[in-house]
Amino acid sequence: MRTIVIVILLLGAAGAGLWYGTFRAQPLPVDGRLSFTPPRAAPPETMRLSVLHAGRMEAWAAMAYRGGALSEVRTFGMDAVLIEHPAGDLLIDTGFGRDVGAHFETTPALMQHTSSYIEETPVVDQLRAAGRDPDALAGVILTHAHWDHVSGLADFGDVPVWVTAEEMDFIASDDPGTVLARQLSPDIQWQVYDFPDGPYLGFPASRDIHGDGAVVVVPAGGHTPGGVIIFVAPPRGPRYAFIGDIAWQREGIAMPAERPWLMRDMVDVDAARVRDLLVRLHQMQQALPTLIMVPAHDRRVMAQLPPFHAGAATPR
Ligand SMILES: [Zn+2]
Repeated sequence: MRTIVIVILLLGAAGAGLWYGTFRAQPLPVDGRLSFTPPRAAPPETMRLSVLHAGRMEAWAAMAYRGGALSEVRTFGMDAVLIEHPAGDLLIDTGFGRDVGAHFETTPALMQHTSSYIEETPVVDQLRAAGRDPDALAGVILTHAHWDHVSGLADFGDVPVWVTAEEMDFIASDDPGTVLARQLSPDIQWQVYDFPDGPYLGFPASRDIHGDGAVVVVPAGGHTPGGVIIFVAPPRGPRYAFIGDIAWQREGIAMPAERPWLMRDMVDVDAARVRDLLVRLHQMQQALPTLIMVPAHDRRVMAQLPPFHAGAATPR
């Protein structure tokens, strides 16, 4: 009896220790305020931006950021964002594609056993239903190459897929996070790009995709080695920063707070760089309160973007 009590006490202490060191709220230290000046942009009047929901998963808020509740279930959207621009339409990420069932089986066993997914309409089918030719896209820009961001790539024919050299190496490596990208790779028209366009919002280098400041990509490795942030400045309304999985939910930037230890260990290649980015983005948000920071999987933030529908397409 005494042994059982001691075992229970030890298990309780271990559980409390795990909770304390992993899930307890622990906002990252922020070293003062920084000033950021919104860079000049001259987007064309016909530029549009819209979000397409392609699937979702559900997980406790506690899994997404330190301080999240264990009792609160959050929806993790698997979404893509369409940027229509006269110089060429771009998609940011793809969300789940038509073969998501087979794709899910390429993920680590721990993830398959602890999560499940819900299918929505693949992006390619939403575009077709709206009378648009998916193969006419100028390109897909990946925030990074994890499976839930590339699953839809298999549905697009020869559409170029923009990645950084570091992310291409990550895809070619034996990392368990890029099994799917590696499998799809031979059939993808990869477009490896660099950052020739100088500093942007405190990042040392950038690429201005259309040359008008409407879509500007900066290197932001940490979650994956060659991940990026994509800044979008539409002709009207707020600007957006598509931050991929640097944070899974907006609290990651707002607090700022990193993922719990177990999740960091599973999904981030460099947790220290992710911490630096979270703090930097938090400071940017303080200085530019109208800029909308968009974590790839936060449906509450995605709800602030115009939804894609047939009528939203720019006639041409
Ligand atoms: Zn990711």
